[in-house]
Amino acid sequence: MPYPEPKYLKAADLRVSRRPKQLAVINQGGCTGCMVCIDFCPVDCIEIVPGPDPDNPTVHKLVQVDLPRCIGCTLCVKYCPWETIEMVAFEDAYVISPEWTFRGVIDELWEREPVQVEAERPKRRDRERAKVNQ
Ligand code: SF4
Ligand code: SF4
Repeated sequence: MPYPEPKYLKAADLRVSRRPKQLAVINQGGCTGCMVCIDFCPVDCIEIVPGPDPDNPTVHKLVQVDLPRCIGCTLCVKYCPWETIEMVAFEDAYVISPEWTFRGVIDELWEREPVQVEAERPKRRDRERAKVNQ
């Protein structure tokens, strides 16, 4: 089964026995970045990603589904106010997802290097633990 994103290979192969029939794919062309879907996802697999302008990635941030963690519950589709999430057959989701993702499309069109996202700030809990261990 061809997956264009190598990072998905292992996760997809592991999900043979309990594989959801469908996965949620966000069409970022219609996403306003309202983040309503994030609140409804029971497994926290919808992630905030940089906006479409590589020079201003913090402007109009978007969201995308981390497919290997999606359980196909359809809640995000139901509650997205802009109806820009679709349930897609498991195999097709891995092919369609990059096509509906702004950054992938734009970087390809402009032949630009993808913007490096800043490393996530350590969580407060981890910072406090580090202080205790000093
Ligand atoms: S609810 Fe819909 S419009 Fe809002 S962030 Fe999620 S996918 Fe985008
Ligand atoms: S289908 Fe369910 S698990 Fe998958 S992204 Fe949407 S809310 Fe999350």
